[in-house]
Amino acid sequence: MSKEGSLREYRRKRDFGRTSEPSGEEGAKPAKLPRYVVQKHDASSLHYDFRLEIGGVLVSWAVPKGPSTDPAEKRLAMRTEDHPLEYAGFEGMIPEGEYGAGKVIVWDSGTYHNLTEEKGRETPMAEALKKGHIAVWLKGKKLEGGYALTALGDRKKWLLVKMRDEKADDRRNPVKTEPKSVLSGRTLEQLESGHG
Ligand code: MN
Repeated sequence: MSKEGSLREYRRKRDFGRTSEPSGEEGAKPAKLPRYVVQKHDASSLHYDFRLEIGGVLVSWAVPKGPSTDPAEKRLAMRTEDHPLEYAGFEGMIPEGEYGAGKVIVWDSGTYHNLTEEKGRETPMAEALKKGHIAVWLKGKKLEGGYALTALGDRKKWLLVKMRDEKADDRRNPVKTEPKSVLSGRTLEQLESGHG
């Protein structure tokens, strides 16, 4: 799907006169290395939006429990609509009555590279997404190393799992112990008090 086509659902759901989220019309250029971001989002229920730059947009999953650094933990990840690249820097308050109303912080961000392969050959990200299996090496501030995303039956539900590598660590629990924004140093709770 074209970049514009894949952002149609994102734009349809939002009133850019009311929300300060980006419309994506500025057309941010793809960076040298593809972006990776996790946003902590206190909407109707708290979740972590896990996003990977693929084909000029941020392909997105909502992870209710957030990502883990422990390979034994399988985290449910619900595929959501693609977001524009500019969304990677969005932090603020989505107003009451708007889609996704509530606070958002950039919980982690960085870049990634593709680890997906079949029979020793790299599978391009767009193809991996279609096939329902993605493996990436994250270079974030909180999360690092291999992560696998695997689609269950209907392609809506996926599982996000830390791969077994030198960055795996079953003693860490960054969702609990590292709650602050990597952009502003604020917690979601602190977002309320001003700067929005
Ligand atoms: Mn969300």
